[in-house]
Amino acid sequence: LFDCGEGTQIQAMKSERFTLSSVTTIFITHMHGDHVFGLFGVLCEMQMIALDLAKTIGQHPRNIKPFKVYGPPGIADYLKVLMTTATGGKGPLVDICELVQSTPKPPYSQGNMRVRQLQCDRNGVWQVVQDQSESPKTVKAVLMPHKSEMSTFAYVLEEDKVLGTLDVERLNKMGIPPGPIFKELKKGKVVTLPNGKTIDGKDFLGPSTPGRKLAIILDTYDSSTALHLAKDADLVIHDSTFHSDMAKEAYGKGHSTAEQAGLFARDAGAHNLALTHFSNRYVYETNHVINAIGVDVHVDEAVEAFESDRVVAAEDFMSIPIIRESGKRLLAEAKDAQRRAEAMIKEEIKMAEMEDRAVKNPKEAEEGEKQTKAQKKGGRRNGKGVGKRVDLRSRIESL
Ligand SMILES: [Zn+2]
Ligand SMILES: [Zn+2]
Repeated sequence: LFDCGEGTQIQAMKSERFTLSSVTTIFITHMHGDHVFGLFGVLCEMQMIALDLAKTIGQHPRNIKPFKVYGPPGIADYLKVLMTTATGGKGPLVDICELVQSTPKPPYSQGNMRVRQLQCDRNGVWQVVQDQSESPKTVKAVLMPHKSEMSTFAYVLEEDKVLGTLDVERLNKMGIPPGPIFKELKKGKVVTLPNGKTIDGKDFLGPSTPGRKLAIILDTYDSSTALHLAKDADLVIHDSTFHSDMAKEAYGKGHSTAEQAGLFARDAGAHNLALTHFSNRYVYETNHVINAIGVDVHVDEAVEAFESDRVVAAEDFMSIPIIRESGKRLLAEAKDAQRRAEAMIKEEIKMAEMEDRAVKNPKEAEEGEKQTKAQKKGGRRNGKGVGKRVDLRSRIESL
């Protein structure tokens, strides 16, 4: 679970797809209330669910695994106060890990809390989680600027790739019988056979499927520090507090515009983009509100910057399935490329027709050209021009 604003516990109860019983780990981006005020309630609820389950299956409460919380320095103190004042030290079992830039302080325990600190590497990246379980995955984090007194963590979750299937038939033909050797070969390892020969599992594996990648980019006016981590992400969830009409305001308040979110997704080579954290000046449903501006203007703007229409305005209870099959992803890419190619061909036909007209009737052609130029100029909102491609970094610098 990434962030825990006020009301998370209630919304989780209302949700048909999401349940707190499936949560083992919570990642906090920064200590602002809309990201952290619901944390303690959620942890208490998770503990209650775990205790109920333990009772049902006859497990001793002592065997309940602690929940994990990762976040900025201060998260341990924040929870400590609530643990001691609200639960008399009998609160949920929590392993807290503070992500720090300087030398980590020694770990300590207090009541049901265990606290440690984790320092970033030389490149400013936190290797937050390296999960080697049945479904191996990593979570990495970098800092992004938000307010003068507070930065935000960008989190990127990535699954390991799934290796292809083992070519058993070929191995059998080579006289290698199924057994423990197959298990090693399936992992792509080099194995020594009883006859002393070595074979490489990788030579007998089908094509692997890339793991899924999710990037959480919240509350920042400059997400460019997270671009390299989010490279090729299947889904980017990005702060989109304002429309670029209010770019200066967004910058001043430490937030991103929909255009920045789109540029981030494009520059990262991401496949899908979900916009979130809209200022309450924008509404989801414009029908019954006078002078309302809908969040659809954010989507339009992000689509243009992303150069892809795979953009959605996230809302409560929305579920976005991320498909593991690489084939599907390639299909989506192929469709995008086809769309771009078709648009280019159309443009070329138009130009050719214009040239044709110019030869036949120079005056009429001149009028036509003027019109097309005007259309092109108006094509992009705010007259940002069509020729030059802005990248995220230069867009932020211009603010
Ligand atoms: Zn914030
Ligand atoms: Zn916020």
